[in-house]
Amino acid sequence: MIIKKVKASSIITKSNLPDADYVINPYTGCMHSCIYCYARFMKRFTGHKERWGEFVDVKINAPDLIPAKSTKYMGKTVFLSSVTDPYIALEKKYKLTRQILKKLIPLEPNLSIQTKSDLVLRDIDILKQFSNCEVGLTITTLDDNLRQQIEPKASPIQNRIRALKRLNKAGIKTYVFIGPILPYLTDWKKIILKTKLYSDHYMFENLNVRGSIWNSIKKWLKKQHLELIEKYKKIYFSKNNYWDKVENKITQFCRNQNIGHRTYFHHSKKIGL
Ligand code: SF4
Repeated sequence: MIIKKVKASSIITKSNLPDADYVINPYTGCMHSCIYCYARFMKRFTGHKERWGEFVDVKINAPDLIPAKSTKYMGKTVFLSSVTDPYIALEKKYKLTRQILKKLIPLEPNLSIQTKSDLVLRDIDILKQFSNCEVGLTITTLDDNLRQQIEPKASPIQNRIRALKRLNKAGIKTYVFIGPILPYLTDWKKIILKTKLYSDHYMFENLNVRGSIWNSIKKWLKKQHLELIEKYKKIYFSKNNYWDKVENKITQFCRNQNIGHRTYFHHSKKIGL
């Protein structure tokens, strides 16, 4: 892993995400090495020659770029993070996310954090100072063997569930992001049943295999789940309504159980809540 300290020119960026007005990425690059990473397209904007997942730029001046006073972000949703995880292992040392959060408190945004790391627990003291804050833990599977295959450097699943419980106990609004849903492997119902006491709502996203992601998924399937290759090809490369059926099942289940939810399927359709 090549780690470089860099100076960023700006840190709060206008967002294209459906539920965020602004995003903050304290790092360029990510250490979690998820095989389905959607953020790898970022590489072409970074000037890096290394492969995605093999470099991290630490935006060392990021906290200084947050204004001390401004009404611009008041009541606006500021999301950490869209193309990295705000709690990668380097955050233990550099504390950029922690310092950024401290500086955001007086700006009164609606803070939204999503992570695969239980390091977020370190910042409970700061999170409690926001009047509007929610923290999401991504959980793609309850099977930690599978987790090690697909998200090798993120926190074990048990740690994420523990983090969810502790955040909930601390009075912080929480959600579970179930995504990407891996066909035939992600048991989203089991994840809900395991976490529903500590999660205020749920978000769901299907696996997207655009661009080079399919190569990465195919390589993993060949090694670990050879029996699924043809099934995945059928879902992704032939006309079918696999994801419509999954989406309908999720919506039905959540409605029956009175569970707040949003689905982000096919990257354009959004139903739920
Ligand atoms: S946590 Fe997000 S940004 Fe990091 S490797 Fe995984 S999918 Fe990519």
